[in-house]
Amino acid sequence: MSREVSAAKDDLEETGGSAAAPAATHKAARSEAEPQRMTPMMAQYVEIKAAHADCLLFYRMGDFYELFFEDAEIASRTLGIVLTKRGKHLGEDIPMCGVPVERAEDYLQRLIAAGHRVAVCEQTEDPAEAKKRGGKSIVQRGVVRLVTPGTITEDSLLDPARANLLVALARRRTGEDSYAYGLAAIDISTGRFTVTETAAAGLSAEIARLDPREIVVPDTIYDEPALRDLWREQRAAVTPLARDGLDPASAERRLKDFFGVASLDAFGAFSRAEIAAAAAALAYVERTQLAARPALSPPLREDVSGTLSIDAATRANLELMRTLSGERSGSLVSTIDRTVTPGGGRLLAERLASPLTSVAAIRARHDAVAFLLGERPLRERLRQALSAVPDIARALSRLTLGRGGPRDLAAVRDGLAAAEAVASLLASAAPPPELAAAAEAMRGVAPGLAENLSAALADELPLLKRDGGFVREGYDGTLDEARVLQVDSRRFIAALQARYVNETGCRTLKVKHNNVIGYFVEVPPAIGEDLVKPPHNATFVHRQTMAGAMRFSTTELGELEARIASAAERALGIELAVFERLGDAVIGAGEAIKRAAEALSVVDVTAALALLADDLGWTRPTVDDSLAFSIAAGRHPVVEAALKRAGQTFVANDCALSPPEGEKAGRITLVTGPNMAGKSTFLRQNALIVVLAQMGAFVPAARAHIGIVDKLFSRVGAADDLARGRSTFMVEMIETAAILNQAGERALVILDEIGRGTATFDGLSIAWAAIEHLHEVNRCRSLFATHYHELTALAERMPRVENATVRVSEWKGDVVFLHEVVPGAADRSYGIQVAKLAGLPPPVIARARAILDELEKTEREKPVATLVDDLPLFAAMPPRPAAAAPQKDALGEALDGIDPDEMSPREALEALYGLKALRAERDRH
Ligand code: ATP
Repeated sequence: MSREVSAAKDDLEETGGSAAAPAATHKAARSEAEPQRMTPMMAQYVEIKAAHADCLLFYRMGDFYELFFEDAEIASRTLGIVLTKRGKHLGEDIPMCGVPVERAEDYLQRLIAAGHRVAVCEQTEDPAEAKKRGGKSIVQRGVVRLVTPGTITEDSLLDPARANLLVALARRRTGEDSYAYGLAAIDISTGRFTVTETAAAGLSAEIARLDPREIVVPDTIYDEPALRDLWREQRAAVTPLARDGLDPASAERRLKDFFGVASLDAFGAFSRAEIAAAAAALAYVERTQLAARPALSPPLREDVSGTLSIDAATRANLELMRTLSGERSGSLVSTIDRTVTPGGGRLLAERLASPLTSVAAIRARHDAVAFLLGERPLRERLRQALSAVPDIARALSRLTLGRGGPRDLAAVRDGLAAAEAVASLLASAAPPPELAAAAEAMRGVAPGLAENLSAALADELPLLKRDGGFVREGYDGTLDEARVLQVDSRRFIAALQARYVNETGCRTLKVKHNNVIGYFVEVPPAIGEDLVKPPHNATFVHRQTMAGAMRFSTTELGELEARIASAAERALGIELAVFERLGDAVIGAGEAIKRAAEALSVVDVTAALALLADDLGWTRPTVDDSLAFSIAAGRHPVVEAALKRAGQTFVANDCALSPPEGEKAGRITLVTGPNMAGKSTFLRQNALIVVLAQMGAFVPAARAHIGIVDKLFSRVGAADDLARGRSTFMVEMIETAAILNQAGERALVILDEIGRGTATFDGLSIAWAAIEHLHEVNRCRSLFATHYHELTALAERMPRVENATVRVSEWKGDVVFLHEVVPGAADRSYGIQVAKLAGLPPPVIARARAILDELEKTEREKPVATLVDDLPLFAAMPPRPAAAAPQKDALGEALDGIDPDEMSPREALEALYGLKALRAERDRH
């Protein structure tokens, strides 16, 4: 149906002939005051919109979702669709735009991506019912679902490689002025439900770990100045939520009711804040899904102390999930991802986001990777079987929510078949516990279900169940009968057409069908003129005259149409009943299917990490409870991959931060060396090796021994944070403060050029004091890159500080980077050579050299001992040499004196020689 048809039809059906102007939806109060002036349809619209004021309202009219007033303006801007008008309100046009129902998912995706929430309002009765009521009755409508970034389930709206989390927060007081936060995370697209509690200082890190799409926060804390910055720095949509009904007792009741249990103890011991957060998340899910009940797993308590704490800035800086510019490509996850299933991709990202701190759990994962590294043929067969695995968890979730289609049933069918295959492959090989447990979870899931689905589903499946045709022939006798009728009817039409050709003598007569007049007979106009006359007009009833044809209906065609329609309706009815039955069987086995899906993901991730280690020569790290940190020939996985693509090789480097014999405090390595030498790469690769080792992967190093790290910090000096309106130096200092205040002896701290964002003396002093603090107070393993050479003297004063430098050599005045980290301090900074490489103008380079010579002379004249306490003074800057003054431009003057129009050819030639001579003269100077 065309858009015009749809709108016009609804106008006729619903305005009830009233000429009154509809009221503006966003001015609901005013509208309520003058309901008598609204059409019944607008009154209905206003009422529904008022109940969902924070959403754009998709109001179903025929084959379109229409938006009105401000909603229409926003949608038209965001989607680039035409803004039209419909009627008037208080003398002004009502803006309107619409999207076709069939393409609604595309538009929803764009609105959600732009941060909007959408309330989908459907017709909840057949329009025929409304007509029966007569008068001004309009079709009943109701909102069936709110579509928000954190509660979507459609494949087209979801990123297959990423969990889609809704996170709810709750807070409890733990002291005079201290709080703890409960965080509940629900992925409605897979049913995963986790809760955790963290102290206020860990809140930002915990949100960064979860990386949600949407956050709901009690409105009581939403506006707190201390938290406002936190909301602002989120990529996720942050929504304040009224605290209604979320007192501790009703929070607990809500959870118990949803999961049908008498006590939450069966799920674990939860804090008050965790229960409140879990109930808030659940309340929000229920609010958005309305009648549909998602298949959520019971809340699983995650212990923050069980995961490596990585704060938001460190995550961003290490580019774990996305690069600093926000892309997945170029991040660590995209570099190491060799998984072949959507669930495996998500599990890999989840493990990378939450590396563990339990030695036993990490070793169990390493055992599994080591096993599949050694069993290459088995690994290949497993990956082959896994490659057929669809997104079972998300298909299951859609089926449970009543939003599933035939392809979701097929996903479960294929997933279960693959699970059996993967389980038997593993069973034949005596795998280590992690894989054995996965195999166990995949065996004998929902006996008979996969076979039943295979028997029922056709080979080619439509996306939507309402399109029918998805039940295999031979599966259901009554369906086959209904389908025979349809086929018979088609044969009957062919027979009718032949008979009409005979009766009329018109060989080009055709029986056709369209949605407006149904079945009809079409003949050329010349014949048509005959058919309107006796005797033919007893059979043929004229319907339409077209440019090159005339159309007629007949009683027989009418009857036939009714029969075909009822056969099709019956067939579809039977198919929908079959769908319902199969869907119920799947939902009934939901928990077991979910466990099998998770197990498949575990096998996929393990096989992918084994393949990665095999391909790139990664090794199993030794992980224990010591404070060791010893990496031999470590590499940066992302930089190495980029160099490889460019045909270059990465230079591997060692790193040793283990405590000296008999001590319980890690070492600090001070890395000096010119810019571009590879300091940042070296620092980050050691942080990434920790993340990889503790997530259960092998690492890019010849050998690695890592005593569990509990907190990882990585900072780069002078990072920009203009969006938050803070000076770069301020950000640098806030972040440094966080590290110095939080890092304990198990932390790994990486500081890259801290103190760079201010004047030299300030910066140097701050860097100096920070190193002292790390050495004396934090006592943790640290890497500190700096361009302040003065700091290398600290190695002589502090026993656990060591110097390292990135080697460079000079060749014909140019610097050559060797990327090799060696003990010792850089002899100088090579800043001028790097500046030359970067293309600074030669006079600037020459001038810089002269200044540097002067400065170095001043420095040499001082005794070394005083250097440490008395830093070089820039007041000793030499006067500017005369040679650097701009020269008079004789060449320019000579050129100014030439007028080509006034010259003879001979004069011109002489002038040219003169100019050349002048230039030779200038070059000599
Ligand atoms: P800056 O202080 O300017 O940030 P830097 O010393 O920290 O410089 P990096 O950014 O780490 O230098 O590295 C510069 C470039 O050198 C990298 O992009 C990479 O191409 C190359 N590089 C770094 N480390 C290595 C290595 N170990 N082997 C080979 N190439 C490397």
